[in-house]
Amino acid sequence: MKNASTITPAAAAGSSWDVVVIGAGPAGTFSARQLALAGKRVLLLEKSSFPREKVCGGCVSWKATRLLQQQGLEPWSEQLKHGTADRLRLIAGGQSTCIPMAPVSIVSRATFDEYLVNAAVTAGAAFLCQTSAVIGERQAASRTIECREPQHGSFEIASKLVVAADGLSHSSLSRLHNLPDKVADVSHIGIGAIIHEDEAWLNEAGLAPGIVQMAVGRQGYVGLARSTAGQLHVAAAVAPALLAQESALNAVVANILTESGQLTWAERSRVTWCAANWSGTPRLSHRMHCVAADGVFVVGDSAGYVEPFTGEGIYWALQSAANLSSLLATAGTWSNGQAELEWQERHRKFLRTKTKTARLVTTLLRMPRLTRWSIRALNAMPRAAVLLAWLMNGCPSADQVSI
Ligand SMILES: Cc1cc2nc3c(=O)[nH]c(=O)nc-3n(C[C@H](O)[C@H](O)[C@H](O)COP(=O)(O)OP(=O)(O)OC[C@H]3O[C@@H](n4cnc5c(N)ncnc54)[C@H](O)[C@@H]3O)c2cc1C
Repeated sequence: MKNASTITPAAAAGSSWDVVVIGAGPAGTFSARQLALAGKRVLLLEKSSFPREKVCGGCVSWKATRLLQQQGLEPWSEQLKHGTADRLRLIAGGQSTCIPMAPVSIVSRATFDEYLVNAAVTAGAAFLCQTSAVIGERQAASRTIECREPQHGSFEIASKLVVAADGLSHSSLSRLHNLPDKVADVSHIGIGAIIHEDEAWLNEAGLAPGIVQMAVGRQGYVGLARSTAGQLHVAAAVAPALLAQESALNAVVANILTESGQLTWAERSRVTWCAANWSGTPRLSHRMHCVAADGVFVVGDSAGYVEPFTGEGIYWALQSAANLSSLLATAGTWSNGQAELEWQERHRKFLRTKTKTARLVTTLLRMPRLTRWSIRALNAMPRAAVLLAWLMNGCPSADQVSI
């Protein structure tokens, strides 16, 4: 598979586009694919060179897998190397419980997002990476998108519609004052890395294949998941104060692991994980009250985000992309401004109940005492654990999906 740009900046600037999609994460790639399949002339822009890693646990829920299968990307999980898990071990204050969860595939985001870019290109979308985009003026029936690419410098593209799928940074929206964003005061920051770990050590330390582990401390929580052989995904949500206190991101993770009582893991993190390629995100929890205006439609993390670890982020991004593209495929039939109002309404309805569960889980993870109490309760009442697992992610029947 090759993911280099399929178009030059000059050709992109000289063409006319029905839709320009900004950001090649799950929301952007899937929107681009679905719109290209609907016959639209689509350009997908991405600021990084591709493929790229991203701060993420890499857990793709069964709902995401089912959606991709339903949309003809079947079976993605057979083409990509990945791990699987169906149990969650929750750890706080030296106590732990292992609860069942709906199955997830664990895959590196470099691999997964590259697969989706290829699916968009195969469907007919053009792809231009290493190109940072900012949405500019609306002129008559089109929008200007100001782009910057390292070799060609600055250039402009025009498109009838723009999909902003640029994740938590949503830097493409910086000039659009009618799409304001509200970041939660107490928002954590995401950090993570993929660690090349010794398989035998992981087994000895208790992280058998099939288990996702979540360690909770006062200033954040750390998720650990095994994908393919020797690859450990470390993804954490941490209080900004803890980042200021520690000298390096592996030490931040070690701090939380120590507090949760995971001393062996904390030692490993402090000593051997310092060589890994750590990266961070902007503040995680934010919300846009208005997600569409004047030919610009916002989707995925860019439109709003509730902290991670219900394994829902990728699914939400894909499903909202599917919802948006089915709306934009018929955009020509809407009168002025109607498609924007419709997206506002559909997006709000889609996320309303889903974010409530995620907020509940986040609240639990923000309070180690409450987590400890829940661990004791779950150990005493295993049936409650099954109910919690169902609340978090639903449960597929065997014929609904195969991961
Ligand atoms: C610590 C952590 C762990 C997580 N773990 C999981 C998990 O296990 N399972 C799960 O389902 N979800 C998880 N998530 C959530 C998940 O990563 C996101 O919800 C998902 O990636 C959202 O997809 P997206 O397409 O909206 O944005 P992204 O995946 O962030 O993609 C946005 C893209 O836009 C590009 N971009 C940004 N600005 C510009 C610009 N101006 N011009 C051009 N391109 C631009 C970026 O480079 C990026 O490629 C986790 C998140 C965090 C922070």
